[in-house]
Amino acid sequence: MSNRKLDTPIQYVKGVGPKLAQIFAKLGVFTVEDLLYLVPREWEDRRQIKPLVEVRPAALEVVKGEILKVEAPPTRSRFSVLKVYLTDRTATLQLVWFNQPFLKNLLRPGMRLIVSGKVEVSDYDHILQLLVRDFEIDTGENLKVVPRYPLTEGLYHKKLRSVIKTVIENYLDEIENEQEKKALLTLHEPADMESIAAAREYLAFEELFIFQLGLLLKRKEYKEELKGWAIAGEPALLDEFRRLIPFVFTAAQDRVLDDIMADLNSGRPMNRLLQGDVGSGKTIVAALAAFLAVKNGYQAAILAPTEILVQQHYGKLAKLFEGLFRVAILTSATATDKKRAELFDVDLVIGTHALLESKVKFKNLALVVIDEQHRFGVHQRAKLIKKGYSPHVLVMTATPIPRSLALTLYGDLDRSIIDELPPGRMPVKTYYVPKNKRSDAYEFIRLKVKEGRQVFFVCPLVEESKELDLKAAVDEAARLKNDIFPELKVGLLHGRLKSEEKDAVMKKFLNQEIDILVATTVIEVGIDVPNATVMVIEHAERFGLSQLHQLRGRIGRGSEQSFCFLIGEAKSAEARARMKAMQETNDGFKIAEADLRLRGPGEMLGARQSGLPNFRVADIIRDEKILQAARAAAQDLIERDPESAHNRWESQKHKVENPSAGSGSPALN
Ligand code: ADP
Ligand code: MG
Repeated sequence: MSNRKLDTPIQYVKGVGPKLAQIFAKLGVFTVEDLLYLVPREWEDRRQIKPLVEVRPAALEVVKGEILKVEAPPTRSRFSVLKVYLTDRTATLQLVWFNQPFLKNLLRPGMRLIVSGKVEVSDYDHILQLLVRDFEIDTGENLKVVPRYPLTEGLYHKKLRSVIKTVIENYLDEIENEQEKKALLTLHEPADMESIAAAREYLAFEELFIFQLGLLLKRKEYKEELKGWAIAGEPALLDEFRRLIPFVFTAAQDRVLDDIMADLNSGRPMNRLLQGDVGSGKTIVAALAAFLAVKNGYQAAILAPTEILVQQHYGKLAKLFEGLFRVAILTSATATDKKRAELFDVDLVIGTHALLESKVKFKNLALVVIDEQHRFGVHQRAKLIKKGYSPHVLVMTATPIPRSLALTLYGDLDRSIIDELPPGRMPVKTYYVPKNKRSDAYEFIRLKVKEGRQVFFVCPLVEESKELDLKAAVDEAARLKNDIFPELKVGLLHGRLKSEEKDAVMKKFLNQEIDILVATTVIEVGIDVPNATVMVIEHAERFGLSQLHQLRGRIGRGSEQSFCFLIGEAKSAEARARMKAMQETNDGFKIAEADLRLRGPGEMLGARQSGLPNFRVADIIRDEKILQAARAAAQDLIERDPESAHNRWESQKHKVENPSAGSGSPALN
């Protein structure tokens, strides 16, 4: 435990106590420092207050005056109304509070109030009234600009403001940096509206600066302090690999391979993010890296998020390297002790998170590839890395996250991008089909199957429930098989199938023994069956944009034109915007940006493992420019004065390793 006064638990602040402290915790406030950094959501300008006679209907108005009368008319339901008549020398205005009966005993004639809220003409008696949003007793010393904070059940402005006032009086001076102190004071007690933005930006910069300092120091450690296994990529080896594969690398793949080979041979561990849209050909890049590692006498491991994807990678790579290396698979279904023991001296292992179990041991693991990184928590990345002695790490993702997110999530990694698809690919044609027109799509499917193509049917995502997702898929498969396409071969794939069953279904689909594969979102990542050129997504409106894009990425992988039908009911404007974006573009980057605009970063990445730190002040989307400036400044400090960079990080890191973010900022672990 530290003895900084700023770390004092909020519970011990005058007027708080253990009960209220629990409520503060919901806002991420555990210590007095957290409270100092609780940034208001908005600020109400109370510098100019109109005489009551000038008040007109308005979204927000601030008035003041003296209470003339308090009325609490009886109502029949539990719902309650409090009416207070406020007067100044010019007029009287009716104030209305709903469901706060306790105020009746607090507000008395003769009291002076400052009140804000919406002004409207009452439906009932046609007089002007103000629906109160916020009020305080007029002391003559009230703030002219009043912060409004995020609140939670049981903690309202009156109490919150008084605790903040206490904390400012007793603890603000503990902050050493004068500018920071001033900025915090400005947020809580601004002298005017104009100074707020600059204060907030200053604090956001500080926060992002510290965070980036941490990432960049970690990256520097990788680059300068750790030893990496030397993996050489001689031309003869490369030629050997090229002879194994049936196509030529794209220019983008070549560029990325150059980056990777330089890393592998640098004497330092590689720590690289490989970004490339769905279908851009990341697997083969990973395969080459693994090939080089094994040829240099080491072991390599590839981690993928689903068993189906692991099976697929295993199928491909075992074939590719047949007769050359020992390739093994490890999933929770295959993880017997014997299997685990065998991994010790296998050349290449492909597995699910079962690979992360502590029983799994390697002899000389020199390369770790993490496919579909966005599906894993950052801690899992760390676990696998620990199985080798600073192994080379390549993380791959198809989520084309915008730059600000990439710098936050992967700011400690070097980055390579495959920005080109293999030749001959045609953009998928995408259509939104209102659900009463779905039979049109069925006719089209019949045609395509006759031409020899295959079809994915993706079943609706049922809110938060795997059981229901499963039922939806089972029902849909039965319906399609019995009622719609009795003449076609319909298969079913979902997460609950036994591992051999999944494998068997995928093999059948790959061998074209199944025409239509009905599936849950288990097929979302990685699946590669180029002959499948049609995808139907039922209840498409229930899926997020990035997920729709990932799903659609399962088709358009060969040289045939592919088609995607989004069946649904896009009722909300937001849902329509998603359908529109899908029809208009195949560019994952544009999709990601639209998704970010529509849903915000946490939702977009999936709250569960977004890995995004909980910044107290900064908002990485809004503050993207500040983020980039902060990163540049952090880089600059590390280069100019590494020692003070270190000290700065050590003394400030608690600010970005926020306990409310779970187990600290994952990107820093
Ligand atoms: P992703 O980047 O989504 O993981 P994959 O690695 O699954 O993409 O590759 C998609 C498909 O493209 C695979 O069938 C793969 O064999 C093929 N492919 C990869 N690189 C090339 C290339 N340079 N030329 C032609 N086809 C390629
Ligand atoms: Mg892939």
